[in-house]
Amino acid sequence: MTKYIFITGGVVSSLGKGIVAASLGRLLVDRGYKVSIQKFDPYINVDPGTMSPFQHGEVFVCEDGAETDLDLGHYERFIDAYLSQINNVTSGSVYQTVINKERAGEYLGATVQMIPHITGEIKSRLIMASKRANPDILIAEIGGTVGDIEGLPFIEAIRQFRAEIGAQNSMSIHVTLLPYLPTSGELKTKPSQHSVNVLRSYGIQPEMLVLRTQVPIGKNEKEKLSLFCSVNKDSVIECKDMDSIYEVPLYLEKQNITEQVLKTLNLEPRHADLTEWKEMVYNIKHPKQELTIALAGKYTELNDAYISVVESLKHAGFEASAKINIKWIASEDILSDEDTKAHLADVDGIVVPGGFGVRGIEGKLKVIQYARENNVPFLGLCLGMQCAVIEYARNVLGLENANSTEFDKTTNYKVVDLMEEQKNIAGYGATMRLGSYPCKIVPGSKAHGVYGCELILERHRHRFEFNNEYRDLIKENGMQISGTSPDGLLAEIIEIPENDWFVACQFHPEFKSRPHKPHPLFKGLIEASAKMKEKRKSLNTIETVK
Ligand code: GLN
Repeated sequence: MTKYIFITGGVVSSLGKGIVAASLGRLLVDRGYKVSIQKFDPYINVDPGTMSPFQHGEVFVCEDGAETDLDLGHYERFIDAYLSQINNVTSGSVYQTVINKERAGEYLGATVQMIPHITGEIKSRLIMASKRANPDILIAEIGGTVGDIEGLPFIEAIRQFRAEIGAQNSMSIHVTLLPYLPTSGELKTKPSQHSVNVLRSYGIQPEMLVLRTQVPIGKNEKEKLSLFCSVNKDSVIECKDMDSIYEVPLYLEKQNITEQVLKTLNLEPRHADLTEWKEMVYNIKHPKQELTIALAGKYTELNDAYISVVESLKHAGFEASAKINIKWIASEDILSDEDTKAHLADVDGIVVPGGFGVRGIEGKLKVIQYARENNVPFLGLCLGMQCAVIEYARNVLGLENANSTEFDKTTNYKVVDLMEEQKNIAGYGATMRLGSYPCKIVPGSKAHGVYGCELILERHRHRFEFNNEYRDLIKENGMQISGTSPDGLLAEIIEIPENDWFVACQFHPEFKSRPHKPHPLFKGLIEASAKMKEKRKSLNTIETVK
């Protein structure tokens, strides 16, 4: 039977509950327990697919095409599993199901209510998630903060569920903040006490506290919280800010978090083999080199908007023993060749990530032109690939004002166009080409070199595609289509063989990178960037000697 861990948040949002859930998941996986993680988001959107990345950060795409909260990315990266639509539940999706059932007459005669219908649907999603993965332990994280009006049905559903499955089959972990007052040098426990009181007033007594803090927590504070919140002293766990999120599992492990969790759930304590993770963290903390990678996008004010891209760059850096410094470039600020040079002269590699809408496109084209002409290692992702095609069409093929019809419907050269299958789709939300599709790779290409195989599966999220009318022209002029859908029709990867590393893909490799298994395309970019830096260094030395 599956056991359940419910993670709630106190005092403020953005506490890193997702990292705590993912870290605990990792520690349990390393003990041979089968783990799955589910996120409950109290907002009314059916999924985050229609939300601006400015609002909610990146939309993470699962194998099955589910458009989900970015926390699912952390879960997948930490526990190295594939999650699915059922692992991200929103209020919107719960209400939608209940209302559809009501219209279909399933509750005929009854008044449809928050309790038991909405809470019942929430509970059934927990069961569905455990049926899908059949885990020993399902960790369910509730988004937001305890006390939020929107979160109440979820908390109530958990209360009911806990009572139904009985003690020792579930536990509640409250992740909360201890604010630090620098003037008095004190960590304050009162907001967390209040937050636990709110949780208790809903009928949930937490069995564990995870305390987010800037500075180490003294024994006094821990004892105070244990006493006031009725939580065993050994289950008051400190979670200090770390330089790298991948250090968190080890920090929690030092405080025996897993031992306490297993005891509470009446599961056998097991030895964990953390050697691989420890080696990885050692590498993270002792890099032998630093590389600067420019990330030229539209949503650069909110780093969470590109979180999987950033993590993937770091993963490739871990393996190359390189600290990756991201140089954020708001593409709309790039207006001239001088701007491009000023921003890119000192970078070792360039990424143009995915995105939507025309804002900043011309800047992205300039960035790509710079990468191509100066042989700076380049990786284009989804929109980044489409822009690479537009740039090539304009500046190499001489097709003036070539564009994607997403940005200019009247262009004479529609080198990127809406996919045929998308032409009759009216609504928004889960209507793009989404999820995992196969791609066949051309032997001998750079992509083939890094993947080491001819058939791959990658995740997608797009409506537009490379227009095959231009395939011959672009190929004759030096751009290789090195990956296509198995029927050969959809261009999935393009590259410029002449450059050291100029590769772009229609899919999103960033969703499949893991801290200890970097994605081949990111590895390719980082290796090429390291070489580029070395080359530059030796050129500089020759110059100085001269
Ligand atoms: N806007 C482009 C499309 O819909 C690219 C999408 C993306 O980068 N995810 O095809």
